[in-house]
Amino acid sequence: MSGGEACDGKKLVRSSSGLRMVPEHHAARSPFGLDEPPWVPDKDCPRCMQCETKFDFITRKHHCRRCGKCFCDKCCSKKVPLPRMCFVDPVRQCAECAFISQKETEFYDKQLKVLMNGATFSVARGTSEKSEMMVCRLSNNQRYLFLDGDSHYEIEIAQISTVQILTEGFTPGGGNTRATGMLLQYKAPGSEELTQMKFTASEDFNSNKKLSAAWLAAMHKAAKLLYESRDQ
Ligand SMILES: [Zn+2]
Ligand SMILES: [Zn+2]
Repeated sequence: MSGGEACDGKKLVRSSSGLRMVPEHHAARSPFGLDEPPWVPDKDCPRCMQCETKFDFITRKHHCRRCGKCFCDKCCSKKVPLPRMCFVDPVRQCAECAFISQKETEFYDKQLKVLMNGATFSVARGTSEKSEMMVCRLSNNQRYLFLDGDSHYEIEIAQISTVQILTEGFTPGGGNTRATGMLLQYKAPGSEELTQMKFTASEDFNSNKKLSAAWLAAMHKAAKLLYESRDQ
């Protein structure tokens, strides 16, 4: 086991885009993180890539910190938090990127806390019929899922291959569905095979249905960010 909760050191670095607070070691970075994009070189953009205004001494160039494309001030004026690139302060982004980043703030402001606070599920490992009540939570460094019951498991987020949210109450029109569980597939350390775990929100007296549903919704969003981080 790799001691996922160990406190990872952080350091301040300054890039052309702004100040960033990053982990001391690259391996310790968040699995939801994004790399800074390369900036489109000045010589390749005589005009704003949105409104096509020609750049000159009055109309200056600005690079969007999220996509690296080149815009005039009007098309790239919003400063929005971008925690996935570890920026300390809000940074300049184009309209399209600002929209995406603003939507992600819900994950960082609320859902990340829900994941870290944890929720209780009945967990079955592999094809086993036997399940165990476990408290599932995301580690503070965002790199592990900790499962605690009579057993203890640490699942490295970066090793998760699929997250499937199980729902009930599905109607063809897309009516009231409720998240009731999750199928998780991941690679355990030293194994090439995928391990599957099934999480079920239980009716048990010490579990809270609302909390479990919120935790699953947050996990659904986390998986989306995880896949994006991988594909970049
Ligand atoms: Zn423009
Ligand atoms: Zn952009």
